[in-house]
Amino acid sequence: MLLDDLIHLLFPKGCGACLKPLIDPKDELCIECENELIFEARPKHFELKNALRGRVKVISSAYLNDFNKNAAMQEALHSIKYHKRKKLAIFLAEELVLKLGTSFFEKIDCIVPVPLHQKKMKIRGFNQCNLMAQGIQNKTGIPVAYDHLLRKKNTESQTHKNRLERWENVENAFMVTNEKELENKHLLIVDDVFTTGATLEACIKAIQQKVICDCSIITLAKA
Ligand SMILES: [Zn+2]
Repeated sequence: MLLDDLIHLLFPKGCGACLKPLIDPKDELCIECENELIFEARPKHFELKNALRGRVKVISSAYLNDFNKNAAMQEALHSIKYHKRKKLAIFLAEELVLKLGTSFFEKIDCIVPVPLHQKKMKIRGFNQCNLMAQGIQNKTGIPVAYDHLLRKKNTESQTHKNRLERWENVENAFMVTNEKELENKHLLIVDDVFTTGATLEACIKAIQQKVICDCSIITLAKA
């Protein structure tokens, strides 16, 4: 028996959404949750772009599931962030790419994950947007710019803030650190959840203040 099998026998790995023990420890989700999260998902293309209309120009957009209608999506995002289910973030991003097909990514030059502030990065140990970016790169081969955008302001949680407070919280939170690498490119900005769009708006504004480029956006969920 392999050590991994023994560990799984003693401490069975749970589904990343419903936490039920998985039969195969190489899986990230049980069949039911995979159905709800992936097989039944119909990625939506225009909602995020339309939500940002008049605020920033977005070339194309996509997300996998509606946060409020999909319990498995809520639980999966919780598992990624708070139970450090890093492979789940990569897996969901890979599945989203497969769902969208290659045409969505044809014109993208570079993937830009929404950065965490270095203090939060130290506490959590990872940035879930970096993991999603890695998943997208695995399936498309498009390079990821991990450190060309910096979060200079350690923003408070957006959870209990209204639309205006959310914008004030993230306004001027980001800065470009490597303008040349982003110039004249079509960037795909990656975030886990789109709520009011304040974070993505702030990212795109910070980039386009310094650099001439196109921006598209992708998230796992829309709240
Ligand atoms: Zn499950």
